[in-house]
Amino acid sequence: MAEGITFVCDQCGRQIEAWEDGNPYFIDSQGTKRYAYHPNRERDRCSGNDVPHICLTCAALFMVDSGGPQGRCNECKSSHIIDTFSLGGQRCPFCKIGAFEPNSNSRMVS
Ligand SMILES: [Zn+2]
Ligand SMILES: [Zn+2]
Repeated sequence: MAEGITFVCDQCGRQIEAWEDGNPYFIDSQGTKRYAYHPNRERDRCSGNDVPHICLTCAALFMVDSGGPQGRCNECKSSHIIDTFSLGGQRCPFCKIGAFEPNSNSRMVS
């Protein structure tokens, strides 16, 4: 079971959806990266995880592969990135004023 949270900015109302376990993937016999969303038996084969991150400088959303070091934003090369599941309390990169709070009305479970 995976848990999701919606974070909402307390100033501009921007919402970011975050899932606890990212996007687990495995490499198939052709060498192709395949995601194993659950329920999926192939989750046991997963060797890595693409974790959604957000840039706290330019607000770009992108994936960071757990198998490779990437400490920078794809867009602006800022090192101020954070995985979206850890967004609580962070400064909002859209309005630069507010902070993200978990929206307790929209807990999601899949
Ligand atoms: Zn905001
Ligand atoms: Zn950026």
